[in-house]
Amino acid sequence: MRIVIDGAAVATVDAAGTEHSSGHVVVADGLIEAVGAGPAPDGPVDRRVDGTGCLVTPGLVNTHHHLYQWATRGLAQQATLFEWLTELYPVWAGIDDEITHSAAVAGLVRLAKTGCTTAADHHYVYPRGAGDLLASVVGAAGQVGVRLHAVRGSMDRGESNGGLPPDSIVEDLDEALAGTAAAIDRYHDPAPASFVRVAVGPCSPFSVSPELMSGAAELARDKGVRLHTHLAETVDEERQCLDEYGCTPVEYADRTGWLGDDVWLAHGIHLSDAAVARLGATGTGVAHCPTSNARLGAGIARVADLIAADVPVGLGADGAASNEDGGLGVELRQATHLARLRGGPASLTARDALRLATMGGARCLGRQDELGSLEPGKLADLAVWRLDGVEHAGIADPVAALVFGALPRLALLLAGGRSVVEDGVCRTVSEVDAAAALRAASERLLATVSR
Ligand SMILES: [Zn+2]
Repeated sequence: MRIVIDGAAVATVDAAGTEHSSGHVVVADGLIEAVGAGPAPDGPVDRRVDGTGCLVTPGLVNTHHHLYQWATRGLAQQATLFEWLTELYPVWAGIDDEITHSAAVAGLVRLAKTGCTTAADHHYVYPRGAGDLLASVVGAAGQVGVRLHAVRGSMDRGESNGGLPPDSIVEDLDEALAGTAAAIDRYHDPAPASFVRVAVGPCSPFSVSPELMSGAAELARDKGVRLHTHLAETVDEERQCLDEYGCTPVEYADRTGWLGDDVWLAHGIHLSDAAVARLGATGTGVAHCPTSNARLGAGIARVADLIAADVPVGLGADGAASNEDGGLGVELRQATHLARLRGGPASLTARDALRLATMGGARCLGRQDELGSLEPGKLADLAVWRLDGVEHAGIADPVAALVFGALPRLALLLAGGRSVVEDGVCRTVSEVDAAAALRAASERLLATVSR
């Protein structure tokens, strides 16, 4: 299958930031064959896409999410992170494989419709008897047709052990490590162009023991997979870390083996200059989740400083219980606005934001050689954004239109050369069915809790 996209503006996000005001992208056998200015070179054409009025970018990479939370949106509306968790953990205790599947399909459809072709999902709630929750997420990603980095999360510090979550949804140390190892053995596909990879993800310092943090890091390195956790999200977390361990969250991560170029951390908001430098020196990535950070009033990450320190920074939607929109494209503008509220209007450009959402995310997931830019030989994951409606007409700079303007409708979204979204509509699953299943799952879950 050879697809030729012609007559579109193209932002390649390659190392030089090459852009074409009118150019082409050619896709063949799931890979990018050619990118350049002007019309496409001659060759066989199975499908020609008229890109007039459109901008082509790499598919966006979502570096942090909790798909099961699609079933628990709109709750704990005025809560801080700890208050929000305390209210939601008992609700999450009621999830099962069916609820998780419906939530994941809906969440992935929303991500795809907002330009996302690769999604990391951090699943850390495993109530006893809930079925195979990871299988639900992997199955959903296969149906929607986007690449999945399934982070097998875990928690081993329940309330009786000084943690925030109820004891019924935590595992013990051995269960958590064995479940994580089994997930890697079953689902992790290290092959090039892989659609499913697994990472190791104990949830956070305040829900996980130091033994699980260290053991999980050892397991990940033994298996050759990546490491992901929440870190430095709130001032409350920092205070608890100082009280309990006598060090900051980044120092704690350092002690437990959680800094390195195979690690990416969600949030990374409350960081000293020394912590920023340490992340840069170790190549540790950060998943920046601006809408979630704003929804929870957690703070504004030092994104410009992290970029300057050469920290790989990607964007994340975070779970939909703290970001009911759940889309990824909208985070381009959110990231730009938050960075500017912190550091002024020159602190993050529209192109910086696009790079975070593409190459930055690919670096966090260790896939910068395959994903994140439009270059020959890379995987054919791309978004064709429609910029010729009233929302964007007259904005001469297409990247500014994408980042500063309303989130455009997608003319086309390809993942591995396969069409996932066309003319704003998901083509791989029925959106009507996905919404109905999500509504039923959410109602069933909330009814269980109120009983
Ligand atoms: Zn999160």
